Amino acid sequence: MQKEPSTSIKSLLKTHFGYDTFRPNQEEIITTVLEGQDALAIMPTGGGKSLCFQLPALALEGTAIVISPLIALMKDQVDALNANGISAAFYNSTQPQEIQAKILEELVTGQLKLIYVAPESLWMLTNYLSKIKINLIAVDEAHCISSWGHDFRPAYTQLNRLKQEFPGTPIIALTATADRATQDDILEQLEVKEAKRFVSSFDRPNIYMDVRPGQNRINHIYKFLSSRGLQSGIIYCLSRKSTESIATKLRAKGYDAQAYHAGLSVEDRTQFQEDFINDRTPIIVATIAFGMGIDKSNVRWVIHYNMPKNIEGYYQEIGRGGRDGLKAQALMFYSYADVLMLRKFTEGTPTEEFQLAKLERMQQFSESLNCRRKALLSYFGENLAEDCGNCDICKNPPKYFDGTLIAQKVCSAVARMQEGEAIGTVIDVLRGAQNQAVLEKGYQAIKTYGAAKDISWKDLQQYIIQLLNQGILQIWFHEKGRLVLTPQAKQILFEGKTIRLANLVKDSTEEQKPKTTRSKSTRKDLFEKLRTLRSKLAATMGVPAYVIFSDASLQDMENKKPRTIEQFSEISGVGQAKLDTYAEAFLKVIAKHLDTTDSKITTHEKTYQLFKDGKTVADISAERGVAESTIFSHLVKMHRDGAAIDLHQFITSEEIKKVKAAKKVLENPDGLRMYFEHFEENMSYSKIKLGLYLPIKK
Ligand code: ADP
Ligand code: ZN
Repeated sequence: MQKEPSTSIKSLLKTHFGYDTFRPNQEEIITTVLEGQDALAIMPTGGGKSLCFQLPALALEGTAIVISPLIALMKDQVDALNANGISAAFYNSTQPQEIQAKILEELVTGQLKLIYVAPESLWMLTNYLSKIKINLIAVDEAHCISSWGHDFRPAYTQLNRLKQEFPGTPIIALTATADRATQDDILEQLEVKEAKRFVSSFDRPNIYMDVRPGQNRINHIYKFLSSRGLQSGIIYCLSRKSTESIATKLRAKGYDAQAYHAGLSVEDRTQFQEDFINDRTPIIVATIAFGMGIDKSNVRWVIHYNMPKNIEGYYQEIGRGGRDGLKAQALMFYSYADVLMLRKFTEGTPTEEFQLAKLERMQQFSESLNCRRKALLSYFGENLAEDCGNCDICKNPPKYFDGTLIAQKVCSAVARMQEGEAIGTVIDVLRGAQNQAVLEKGYQAIKTYGAAKDISWKDLQQYIIQLLNQGILQIWFHEKGRLVLTPQAKQILFEGKTIRLANLVKDSTEEQKPKTTRSKSTRKDLFEKLRTLRSKLAATMGVPAYVIFSDASLQDMENKKPRTIEQFSEISGVGQAKLDTYAEAFLKVIAKHLDTTDSKITTHEKTYQLFKDGKTVADISAERGVAESTIFSHLVKMHRDGAAIDLHQFITSEEIKKVKAAKKVLENPDGLRMYFEHFEENMSYSKIKLGLYLPIKK
């Protein structure tokens, strides 16, 4: 396979996708694939996985196969590619035969750069695929191959044949599932153990995290929503019944909210989902099934009405917010009642114990006294050097004390027990307990036995949970919940690193002040105008709104207020295809906005400025999207106010005389239209205006 110089992938990034820079790891992944190597890309939702195979597909000769589990996802991606002027299609067994035939025809004649297919349908295409050049194979949502993973999909296991069937073709597996066991499993199953791994940070710094006790949640929600205008958001609930009742309550308060759950008909669900995606319904109140296959980038907030069942779920659900990289809010409520209900759900399931352990960890996260983001990321094995400053704990921190000594004792005990024990035994040993579990293993002989007997069992447990939330310890759920040390623990033990612990005397009556959010929801109305145009275009073209432009692109337009095609091409997300298709419509709205919102003076001054810059009246009219006669009015106004403009260049003395004569004949007519008719439409409105205004040149 040919090595591509990075300048050419940069230019593909700009011309096809409209972006100037790669996101973290994208360039490295793309280069790896272009070199013909297999790759595993682990990136959070919204991290930009698709580009990692779409761009190489364009850079290389031939067609890329993309294996994807959900039809909705395939359709969205294909729509987005087509909007960027890239030929792609998806194939599945539910399509009408004539559509399938057409796609296959395009495929074998090499017209498609990418073909999306579900794993179940892949092997039906073998005959066709053998006729063409396959440049790469992308396995999207690759965790579906692992029975460890949360979305196991049997047909994915058949993908182990890929490497044999297409030995020279690079395979790129992509997922947002972080845990190491699943990662290893993916590579093993796909038989690409040598694949290069790229693990991106799972941090989503634009999401503000806030966790509150569950009392009075509906009122908290009203308050939360009151400043959010028409922003899109999702409220997750545990039961169908509560989705309905919350949606009803919100509607009674005047919010446009729709309940969504598995009990609705397929048609309703499709409809509600589409209304949400296309910004017609701003609020969805849903059971967690909602959002699975949704690729909506401008979800501005996510509320958990109930505590999720594990941290993976929480992370995934809040991750549906802010995929465009703009600010988003995640608000979660938790209560003991939620915990009890979730426990019930696990009862009698084969993995009950495992699930309960994860549930407990979720509860610990909810009650965290340490930076939420640190806690969340440490759960995924990632260390955040500083507290994030963008969560409720950071905004409203508890009192801390120097917890280094306690941490050293705990870490040392864990180390001396060979990282083999779960939290309960660790506490017992530290407190010098005499029970069987301790004595049988001879733990009374280790140095830290009884080292923390001055701390109560409960408090010690709370401190250890803080160590978990700070990423100093981790729980290995797959291995009986044993505690293991992270690299930070080693720094505490051997390198003199100090840490803080939060005081446990937490005032539970302290009402959490509603946070004043920085992001003003009342947008300047240009954004709204752009949004309206986007919706209109989306409806006409039958695609989701974000396929036209993401919110991030609209925001960039709002900030830069482009006036020309060249300026428009600088907007993030504007590649050649979108420039050709949409620039004109969006420029018009922007120009009109500038004209109507600027005060009269400024708009005149702006025209004058452009005029002084040497632009012709026609140029200015085109650039500002207003009629030439209006531009003349601006110039006349500026002239009247004393600006040095030679207006005589636009009209001859002869013409001025004619206009003045007409005024006499028409006996002071009101309106220019009478002049226009008087001259039998042979004198432009602009000239009539000028003729009335200007003196006859001597
Ligand atoms: P994922 O599949 O990882 O959830 P996507 O591939 O859908 O994420 O990308 C999320 C968003 O980020 C999309 O709107 C995409 O166009 C945008 N994006 C991807 N790469 C870049 C980039 N290099 N610069 C700016 N935006 C990007
Ligand atoms: Zn924080």
